[in-house]
Amino acid sequence: MKAINNFIYPDHPMFETSVRSFLPQNIVVPFCQADGKEYECTMEIGDKVHEGQTIAAPKGIISANGACIHSSVPGEIQTIVQCTLPDGKLSYAARIKTQGEFTFLGKKQNPVEWNLFSSATLLEEFKSKGIVNTFLGKTVSLATEIRNCTLKKHRFVIVRMFDEDPSRYTDTLIASHFTEKVIEGAKIAAKAFEAEGIAFVLPKKADFTIAQELIDDNFYVTATADNTKYPAGFIHSLMRQVRKTSKIPEYERFINVNHKCLFLDPETCLSIYDAIVLGIPVIERFVHVTGTCLNSAGMFKVRLGTTIRDLVEQCGGFSTPPSKIVINGLIRGNGIAELDIPITKMVKSIEFLPSRELCVQKSTSCIRCGRCRAICPEHLVPDLLYKMASENFILPRDIAATARICGQCALCNSVCPSRLSLCQTIALLNSGENNA
Ligand code: SF4
Ligand code: SF4
Repeated sequence: MKAINNFIYPDHPMFETSVRSFLPQNIVVPFCQADGKEYECTMEIGDKVHEGQTIAAPKGIISANGACIHSSVPGEIQTIVQCTLPDGKLSYAARIKTQGEFTFLGKKQNPVEWNLFSSATLLEEFKSKGIVNTFLGKTVSLATEIRNCTLKKHRFVIVRMFDEDPSRYTDTLIASHFTEKVIEGAKIAAKAFEAEGIAFVLPKKADFTIAQELIDDNFYVTATADNTKYPAGFIHSLMRQVRKTSKIPEYERFINVNHKCLFLDPETCLSIYDAIVLGIPVIERFVHVTGTCLNSAGMFKVRLGTTIRDLVEQCGGFSTPPSKIVINGLIRGNGIAELDIPITKMVKSIEFLPSRELCVQKSTSCIRCGRCRAICPEHLVPDLLYKMASENFILPRDIAATARICGQCALCNSVCPSRLSLCQTIALLNSGENNA
C-alpha cells in the first residue's frame, strides 16, 4: 500500500495527501464523548438515521449544556452495544450500519453569516452541533465550559496553534493548513465567550502566519512559544508568553490573561468553523495514525465511530505486531489494549509501538529522590500527592487545591526512577475522590 505519511516531514509539506478514511460498513458511536458523562440515546433499534442526526443528548440539569452526539453516517441503528472508549472507560454505543444518501459528504455548504448570532444562540449551536474542547486532551462540552466560566471581566480566548505533546502533529498541521478556518473558529468562540481579545500562540518555527490585518486590529495578539520545550503548550506557559505582549501599549490589557480564560486548540476551532459557518455537526476528526508497526501511516479524516481496526486495515495492516497502542501522544497519551475501540471526539493520534521500542520497568516504592518535585513546572509535590492518594488519605483542602494546579504534563512520571504513575494518580485526585 502506498505510504501516505510523508506530509509529516518539513521537506514534504503535503497535507493534501492525507485522506478521508474509508467509510466503514458499520460504525460504533458511544454515548459518552464529553465531560465523562454518558448521554441518553434518543433513538430506537431499527430507526433510520441521516448523516449528522442527533442520536444521543445530555439528560438532567448537570449536563444540560452537554454536546450532543450525532450519527456520522446515514444508516440504520442495528443494536446497542457496550464498548471500551479510547480512555479505557466503558460506555454504551449505537452500532449503525452505513446505508443511504449522505447529507454533507460531497455537498457544498453555503457559509452562514454568524456575526448576526448572539452569544446565547452560539452556545445553543455549540451544544446541538456537539462541539467539545479538546485543548488538554480530555473532551469538555464547549457550551458547558463557557457557561460555567465565573470570570466577570478579563475574558480572553487563547489559541495554542500547535500540539501540547511534541510527539503528535495533528493540531500543528491543522493550524498550518486550515489557518483561516481556525482563526474564524476562534473569532466565533470569542463572540460566544464575550471575550476582550484573542491571543494566538504560534510555534517557534511556524510555516504559516496570521494575516496582517488581523494583527493590526488590537483585538488580536500573537505570541510565540518554543514548542520544542515541553511543556510549552500548557496553560501557565501560554499565559506567560501572552503576557509578554502586554509590554506593547495597545496590548496592555493582555496582562490580565488568567487560567480561567478560554483555551482552545486548532481542532476545536476547526470544528467550531464547520459547525457554525457550514452547519456540519461534529462527525469527523483528523487522526494521525502512525508507528513503526504499521505498513504505512498517515493523517486521516475519520468518521467518528470508525474502529481503530478499520484504520489499521487502511494502513495496510501491521508489519510487526504492536506491543503497545498509545492514543494522543507518547508523553501525555494513554495506552489501550484492543483494536475494536471506536474513534471518538477525544482522539487525535494513534501510535503502534513494537516491543523493541518499549522500556518495560516495574514500579517500586518511592526512594524520595526529589526529582519529581524538581522538574514540576507548577512547583507541586507529586510524591506527596501520590502517597496520600495511594494510601487513601482524605486530602486536606490546601493539598487538594495544589493538585488542581497540575497541568497533567507527566514530566514527574518521566523522571521518576521508581516508575510511579504520579500524573495519573493526581488526575484521579482531581476527579473528586479523596478530597475533603
Ligand atoms: S503532571 Fe507532574 S510534573 Fe506535570 S504539573 Fe502535574 S505534578 Fe507537576
Ligand atoms: S521522582 Fe519518584 S522516587 Fe523520586 S521522589 Fe518523586 S515519586 Fe519518589
